[in-house]
Amino acid sequence: MTSNQLAFPAGARKLIPISGDRKSFPVNRVFCVGRNYAEHAREMGNDPDRDPPFFFLKTLDALVPGGGPVRYPRMTKELHHEIEMVVAIGSPGADVSPELAMQHVFGYAVGLDLTRRDLQAEAKSLKRPWDFGKSFEQGAPITAITEVNDCGDMSKGEISLSVNDKVRQLGNLNEMIWDVPEIIAYLSRFYYLEAGDLIFTGTPAGVGPLNYGDQLIGRVDGLCDLSVNII
Ligand code: MN
Repeated sequence: MTSNQLAFPAGARKLIPISGDRKSFPVNRVFCVGRNYAEHAREMGNDPDRDPPFFFLKTLDALVPGGGPVRYPRMTKELHHEIEMVVAIGSPGADVSPELAMQHVFGYAVGLDLTRRDLQAEAKSLKRPWDFGKSFEQGAPITAITEVNDCGDMSKGEISLSVNDKVRQLGNLNEMIWDVPEIIAYLSRFYYLEAGDLIFTGTPAGVGPLNYGDQLIGRVDGLCDLSVNII
């Protein structure tokens, strides 16, 4: 499509840098897993044995590739941090078996599932969708993607978030209720997965509020650090 066919100027799909490569990863969709670490499910008042993980989506304008300054969003008094490992899908698939799921992984990144917790809580209580609580501009900062061949074993390793040099969230990737192959298998029953899909894989315990001026550092062993400041 040439630009003179568009009603107004528009850029390409959101692009995520690839670590050590001049190419970029063009994003198709942003899926997120909810309640994928038992301790976090409990801190949110849920029973991880009774309530299995589930999915929601964010729109592409949520992505902040490379991190950096993030505006405190509108219409909330309770912006929460959720540090997560992100899986980048590199090839299409539907009804993918867990055994073959890893063949669809392009790489991994570190992401923040920023959440307007007050709006999410209101939606939960009214049995309404979570979109206003979860999907908003700059609500998903993300590092460059590290390709699978440059990663170690991402089924384990420390995941953490510090705010103003204090550790707020600390967990291990091996604590996920659904591991990465299970997440891909489950999601691919409901959607045709495409190259360019991102999956935020859930957050460990320790979520909490953010304020103007906060400096965040998110880390997952073996991946790039995510640095974000709230403005
Ligand atoms: Mn989350």
